[in-house]
This record gives sequence, C-alpha cells and structure tokens, in this order.
Amino acid sequence: MKFGGTSVADIGRIRNVAQHVKREVDAGNEVAVVVSAMSGKTNELVGWAREMAPLHDAREYDTIVATGEQVTVGLLSIELQRIGIQARSWLGWQIPIRTDGAHAAARIQEIDGSELIRRFGEGQVAVIAGFQGLAPDNRITTLGRGGSDTSAVAIAAAVHADRCDIYTDVDGVYTTDPRIVAKARKIDKISYEEMLEMASLGAKVLQTRSVELAMVHRVRLQVRSSFEAPDASLNDDGSKNYFPGTLVCDEEEIVEQQVVSGIAYSKDEAKITLVKVEDKPGVAARIFGPLADNSINVDMIVQNVSDDGQSTDMTFTVPQAELARAEDIIQKVRQDISAREVRTDTNVVKVSIIGIGMRSHAGVAKTMFKTLADKGINIQAITTSEIKVSVLISSEYTELAVRALHTAYGLDAE
Ligand code: ASP
Ligand code: MG
Repeated sequence: MKFGGTSVADIGRIRNVAQHVKREVDAGNEVAVVVSAMSGKTNELVGWAREMAPLHDAREYDTIVATGEQVTVGLLSIELQRIGIQARSWLGWQIPIRTDGAHAAARIQEIDGSELIRRFGEGQVAVIAGFQGLAPDNRITTLGRGGSDTSAVAIAAAVHADRCDIYTDVDGVYTTDPRIVAKARKIDKISYEEMLEMASLGAKVLQTRSVELAMVHRVRLQVRSSFEAPDASLNDDGSKNYFPGTLVCDEEEIVEQQVVSGIAYSKDEAKITLVKVEDKPGVAARIFGPLADNSINVDMIVQNVSDDGQSTDMTFTVPQAELARAEDIIQKVRQDISAREVRTDTNVVKVSIIGIGMRSHAGVAKTMFKTLADKGINIQAITTSEIKVSVLISSEYTELAVRALHTAYGLDAE
C-alpha cells in the first residue's frame, strides 16, 4: 500500500490511512506500507536547500529532502500501534534500498526483502519511507520527485506482493484530465504499456519510472483513492470489493480493449526551429549530438525535404525547462551548419492519443488529424509509436483539441 502526500497531509489523514491499513490487515493480508512526505513538505525542504545556496552539493540536498518521509513513517507507525496493529518504521538505509550514486535522481538497484518477509511472519506491518535509498558509498539518496511510487513498486517486487495499491487523491486513472473534460471516464483496467505512455506523455497520476518497474517485474498496480471511507470497498451485500480503482496490469487481463484508451497532454514542451539548414549528410548529427552530450532530451523531430536540394528547416522539441540551455547550444552550432536563424516557441502543447488497439486497427491517426482539422487546429509536428500518436499544436487549443478527440474516439461518459 502506498500513500501519497495529500493522503498523509495532516494528523487526521494519517489516522485515516491507518484505517485503510487496518482493513487490509483484518482481511488477513501481510502489509508493507510506503508513504510520501506530507504534501508541500518536500517543496519546502527543496526551497530551503536552494535558499541556502542555489548551487549546492547534491548529497546534502538528499540528506535534507529525505527527512519529509522520516516524519510520516514515524507518525503512521505510532497511529497503527495505537489502534492495535504491530507496526515498525523503516528508512531506506535500514532495509536497505540500494541505489546507484546519482544523487537527487537515483535509480534503485537492489532490495533485499528477506527481513521484511520474516517480520511479516511475526505479524508486523512494515511502514517504509518512500523516495529514499542508500548509495554505494552509504550516503542517503533520493529517487527524483514523485519517487515514492517507484519505491512502492520496488518493495512490492522485493517481497513478491500480490498487488501494489497506490492510494492517491483521485479515485483512479481517467481517459483524460477530468479538469478539462467533464465527460472523462475512470478506466477500470489499463495495460502497463498504455499506462507507461500515459504517464510519460503528461498524465500525472503515477511516476513514469514506477510504471516501467511494474511492467518489468509484472507487479499488478492498483490506483485508488485514500479519501473514500476505509470500508467503502464493501459491496451492498457485505462482500468485499477490492478493485474499485484502476488496475494497471498485463494486456491479457483486459477483455474489452478500446482502440484508444486515453488522451494525454503536456505543456512542458518547447519548440525550436532551425531555419534553412544545409541538406546534406551529417547535419542532424551535428545538431542533436551536442544536445545529447548535454543530457537534453529531444522529443519530436520534423525535417522537411528541401525543394531546392540545398537547404531545409529542422524543427524539434525539448522540455521547456531546458529551452534556454538548448538554445544556447544550438546558437553555437548554427554557423557550423549554416542555418539562417533559430526560432523558439513555448506556446505549444503536445496532445497524444494512446491505445494498444492501434497495433491492429487502421485509420486511427486519420481520425485524429481529421478531428483537429475540423476544428481549424494546425498540427506543427507529429510523432508516433506502435501505441500512440502525438501532435504538437498551439497551446491555446489544448482544451478544444482534447475534448474533440475524447468525443471522436468514443470515450465520453454518457
Ligand atoms: N515526497 C517526494 C516528492 O514530493 C516523493 C513523493 O511524494 O513521491 O517528490
Ligand atoms: Mg506523488
């Protein structure tokens, strides 16, 4: 069971979390609970580190920001004990959750679950701090923002859990953002592949890395709300219903497969256009090589055929937070490739349709392009994979585009 920041935001909510845990324990389950810091806490800690010095030692940053979770594991353990459940808190280093040494963005390498499993046998509930681990040199690491989802999946894999329940402030994964589409529907079951695309294309409900890990280890993930009454999973007839949220699972488990399962959007992209670059071998490598060397992730790329055989435009997108750095790098290579000009645009949004049904259905992209055309929305760039199509459009059309596509693919709730 994993509880995010809003679910442990204050003493009252932590008591509520304890009731969810109690329900599972009473049902005869062995339980490990992973918790985040109280909502807003990590931001405050990050702010303090920055205030002390904008550029600071990442090892000390981790020492500071890992403390938020230490508070919540202690509090939850006390509350569980108070209501008669044997509980013990665990920090990352005590298990240990071994990571690499990439401070502030560490990746989990190994978790020995044997001690936790032994304690389950004694009837103990393990209350584990999310987001943190132990570097090879025994310093504290953190996994990157939102990392406690990943902690939870990794723990679930390490103790061979039947399920990993991610409790959050929404009651599941929706076909699109319910804040902009009132007719968005909760998805009952979604495949790992689709969830991975949804998360990386802008749906904020799960950290992308956690879905990746769940897919690799085949951990069944269930996204559900911590705000429903702890006993709301009882049906009217008193039988237990443990699947009220969204189950992220193997595609074989999904009987009724939609062609398009969801629509995501991301305003985090920025567009860069190199006007009139030479059309000859090696140019793309000279543009994208230096960006890669500086760890800037390029997402969409469009290059036109030149009509004169001499020069063409090259357009691509980078994360908005990296735009200034990327522009700097591109200005340096501009002369080298005799590009006339560099243009940037941050008023763009990437809208994506996602669905494993696309693998076997023709005409899915056509519907997308036609729908956008009917609304007079111009497409600036396109990328596709086996199970998604993304388009870059002007950000003023975000709502219009997402709503129209939601209807076009038959996703609207009645
Ligand atoms: N507390 C950490 C953060 O805010 C980890 C998490 O909540 O998943 O990023
Ligand atoms: Mg989170």
